[in-house]
Amino acid sequence: MPPYPVKITFGEMREMGVREVLIYCRDYRCGRHTEANADSWADAVRLSDIEPKFVCTKCGQRGADVRPNFEPAKMGTAPGITARIC
Ligand SMILES: [Zn+2]
Repeated sequence: MPPYPVKITFGEMREMGVREVLIYCRDYRCGRHTEANADSWADAVRLSDIEPKFVCTKCGQRGADVRPNFEPAKMGTAPGITARIC
């Protein structure tokens, strides 16, 4: 992952052509992550604003790391990363 110094808003992210976010469990021992379509979040919302709202479905950790997904969307999902953080 490239380092990302500042948490941007979803509007800024969309201006860069990014439509998805990667959501990482805060517990490094867990390592669970998932992708989410970012269309449902308003332009003024910062990625950091939504981080406390996630709870890991694997380990129960509250809070997540939300980063822009600069990779193009892939069809299908690899086994092992299908669990949702919601
Ligand atoms: Zn976890």
